[in-house]
Amino acid sequence: MRFSTRAIHKGEEPDLDGKGDVVVPIHLSTTFARRNPEIPTGGYEYTRTGNPTRKALEEKLAAIEDARYGLAFSSGLAAESTLLLSLLKKGDEIVASDDLYGGTRRIFESVMKNFGVNYVTADMTGEIDDRAFRGKRMIWLETPSNPMMKIIDIRRMAEIAQENSSILVVDNTFASPYFQNPLNLGADIVLHSTTKYINGHSDSLGGAIMVNADTLYEKIKFNQNAVGAVLSPFDSFLTLRGIKTLEVRMERHQSNAMKIAEFLEGRGEVECVYYPGLQSFRYREIAMRQMSGYGGMLSFYMKGNREDINTFLRNLKYFSLAESLGGVESLIEIPYFMTHSGIPEEERKRNGIRENLIRVSVGLEDVDDLILDMEGAFEAMR
Ligand SMILES: *Cc1c(COP(=O)(O)O)cnc(C)c1O
Repeated sequence: MRFSTRAIHKGEEPDLDGKGDVVVPIHLSTTFARRNPEIPTGGYEYTRTGNPTRKALEEKLAAIEDARYGLAFSSGLAAESTLLLSLLKKGDEIVASDDLYGGTRRIFESVMKNFGVNYVTADMTGEIDDRAFRGKRMIWLETPSNPMMKIIDIRRMAEIAQENSSILVVDNTFASPYFQNPLNLGADIVLHSTTKYINGHSDSLGGAIMVNADTLYEKIKFNQNAVGAVLSPFDSFLTLRGIKTLEVRMERHQSNAMKIAEFLEGRGEVECVYYPGLQSFRYREIAMRQMSGYGGMLSFYMKGNREDINTFLRNLKYFSLAESLGGVESLIEIPYFMTHSGIPEEERKRNGIRENLIRVSVGLEDVDDLILDMEGAFEAMR
């Protein structure tokens, strides 16, 4: 089965011995009756432990990452905290890529440190210093990164993880499972904020973990129930529904993003554009090797002062000034003041997150309208 066939059919085979629903029902029941005390009659006992709608989603999540197992959580960060609590203990160390999602950094910095789990960051692009990885229990990376669109060679990092007996976690939220499958490149665990492309409609918060190894699955599955940060049946339904159009959405996100990236590159108001599909993109070669497409996220530096940039943003009609990404509607933001404002000033500057860096989540609107909208906003700056 190819991607869209899996995305549509896996986890949702019609139950012809039951009512024959083509779409999995939303099972709201929190508890499930049984005929005798020893075994649950339908396989379910209590919804935190297992729920038929969530189960369908978990099968679909596994299928789209080409994984053996999938697990669904109440947010991307719920998936992250469950994963960290499942696999780390006091004294363990994490090494993370330097351009990290703000919430992930916050868990490492403000939560895990209290449990005696330390973290350091490393530049995982270009020449890699192997010493940074010695004795580390977990390697955590995001590629493409947020917001600088750095690309990390996943295969290379999987080799380093193996040499050091560490667990390689890849946050695959930006690429989506349609464009990149890190487990097939040697990662141990893939993590997603399903809030973004996987659900894709900016109306459901969720997280997912996909793995192949039984041992990792058993540990995380145990804590999914023990810690309890599970996805609700209704959100499971929304996410199931979103996944069915993931391929067509990602194709359109990408073609729109490519046209906008090229448009921005030709504008005098723009200093430079970061989008993996551009010829000028620094990491184009690795991106082409490990991804099957470039996605719908881009960032760029603008010329001009803060007032000019605010004029540009204020004059956009279709790009909402908002955090988050991966929905059908286009969003724009300034990481320095918004998504990445919690990161200390000097660290932001060191990673290139300056006041004039703009991040765009290119939506599914007609791209000509989007370009006209941007043209108008640039003209307003004059
Ligand atoms: C949004 C996001 C998260 C966190 O997910 P939530 O669903 O907001 O908890 C983690 N990683 C990346 C790359 C994200 O964009």
